Amino acid sequence: EWKEKFLGGRNLNSKILFDEVPPGIDPLGPENRLIIGTGPLTGLLGPATGRFTLTAKSPLTGIHGDSNSGGDFGPEMKYAGYDHIILSGKAEKPVYLWIDDDKIEICNASHLWGKTVFEADQIIKMEDIGDPDVKTLIIGPAGENLVRFACPIANLYRAPGRCGLGAVMGSKNLKAIVVRGSKSIKVAKPKEYLEYIKELFDKIYKAAIYPVWSRYGTTALIAPKQQRGEMSVRNQQEAGWSDEKAKAIYGETFLNRFVVKSKACFSCPVHCAHGFVIKEGPYANTYAEGMEWGTIGCFGNQLDNPRLDAIGKAHELASQYGMDTMSTGLMIAFAMELFQRRILTKEDTGGIELNWGDHELIVELVRKIAYREEGIGDLLAEGKLGLIQRLGERGAEAARYANHIKGLDELTDFRSDLGRALNYSVSTRGADHLRGLPTYSIWEDTDFKKLFEEKYWDKKFKSPKATDFQAYDPIRADIVIFTETVCAAADAIEICKFNTEWMAQEFVNLTTMAKMVSLATGGNIGVEGLREILERGWQIERAFSVREGMRAKDDIPYPRSFEPIPSGPQKGKRLERDPFENLLQVYYEKRGWDSNGIPTRERLEGLGLKEVADELESTLRLTLSASLSLL
Ligand code: SF4
Repeated sequence: EWKEKFLGGRNLNSKILFDEVPPGIDPLGPENRLIIGTGPLTGLLGPATGRFTLTAKSPLTGIHGDSNSGGDFGPEMKYAGYDHIILSGKAEKPVYLWIDDDKIEICNASHLWGKTVFEADQIIKMEDIGDPDVKTLIIGPAGENLVRFACPIANLYRAPGRCGLGAVMGSKNLKAIVVRGSKSIKVAKPKEYLEYIKELFDKIYKAAIYPVWSRYGTTALIAPKQQRGEMSVRNQQEAGWSDEKAKAIYGETFLNRFVVKSKACFSCPVHCAHGFVIKEGPYANTYAEGMEWGTIGCFGNQLDNPRLDAIGKAHELASQYGMDTMSTGLMIAFAMELFQRRILTKEDTGGIELNWGDHELIVELVRKIAYREEGIGDLLAEGKLGLIQRLGERGAEAARYANHIKGLDELTDFRSDLGRALNYSVSTRGADHLRGLPTYSIWEDTDFKKLFEEKYWDKKFKSPKATDFQAYDPIRADIVIFTETVCAAADAIEICKFNTEWMAQEFVNLTTMAKMVSLATGGNIGVEGLREILERGWQIERAFSVREGMRAKDDIPYPRSFEPIPSGPQKGKRLERDPFENLLQVYYEKRGWDSNGIPTRERLEGLGLKEVADELESTLRLTLSASLSLL
């Protein structure tokens, strides 16, 4: 019944989290759950059908948290016979979970505690188990030290990076999950399924944008970002870098200087990832895989650091220590601005000057944060909300420069694109492009447009306002809900968003996703059925966070969003508070939420979620009576 109502992956994880984690618990306490979910297509052949999602109450944001990863851990879990794994409690001493088909063992991990992800992976595979082909999900020192944006690493180089789920593993004394699976997955209509996915692969290979994604991955976005004036510099104090600095981190530069091979996750035709080597200079002998634009931007332009070799080193260390590269880079950017404004002083930093563009310092700070080194390392490991709290009386001033929504931070300045602003604001896990960023500003406003049908989005939404990025028009909410739905579908089915309509008009869309699921499972899901399933997940994620105290005020973006962009092609643009709050109300209405952003009973019951409505109502009543008794 749950599978029919929630399908799988992130969507079903969210339901489990809501049911099993009561409000108000410490995300780093034993009551929190860590849920690992695969989807109905995970492990089957199909475009990028190798994803899995981790879900927990986030120690970074205090609300619903999840993060999704590629690689081949998800398929292996499925081959071992598991759709979802739910972990609770806390081990007395470090352990790892070893799943070998039906055999499950909790193994001593004392010898692995303190090791980097790479070291632990080698010991587990070569010494403990003696099989280099088992798949691993491992935390590094950052997860052990409860860094609030720590993440586990799947098979060395893939990261469910966001929301601090590595710290949740660390809080449970869980160093790793190791899996080996040898079973097969039953497909309801195997012949039709195979024929159909062949069609989908062909379409992807023939898409006009395919050569760009498969050559550059998301590093292809860096040049258009510079062109469009979305290159946030110095924690978004400036919006536009010199061309000389920007070119030093362009995708073309990355490919020419460092990349040695193209890499792909399980069954992925796009192969957006890269293996890269830094051969000379202070960071010589570094090998890693990645890097995404998100990583390059957060360790690069946000820190006014054009040293691509240092960015590569910071990325490699973040993978070894198990930390989200985006939150790590943006946390350093926040600290540098606080230091520039003398809100943080040398007393806080242990005598270190946090100067923009100091590439050696940036690399060193990654290590200090992972090990929570006394002083600056420990402070930054707390995340933005935690640091503001730790600053006491200085916290209020620091908060003015903390670019985040609900505790999660993002790379791109959204003042020139209202769709992006709305998406970040209402995302159920905090500011987040992967939750449903309307990708139109990339396609319509840069050199990419020649790869797309002209005015594709205007035609799709039958409105010329669709690509008027500054129009406070209800169409913004429609587009955001559409892209949220595409992303939620990918996360429920567990295929990579980069193979979906979200990234190219010819890629997998809601209709094709529904058909793949129907052929694989034997059901007849249909697009409307799929939409309803996804809507349930979205409402439950919101309900979880509302139960934790989140309200409409938490959807309002950070202070800098309402100040004009100071420079570059988008100079002068900013969010306007009243029209933006009105736009939020339009979105709430379309989602069936009240004016405070709370899902209504009517909406929840309409989706068959009476139990969620009851639970939400009783928690809200309790909260209300508790605050009344304090008066
Ligand atoms: S597009 Fe990139 S991230 Fe997505 S599955 Fe393929 S290789 Fe992995």
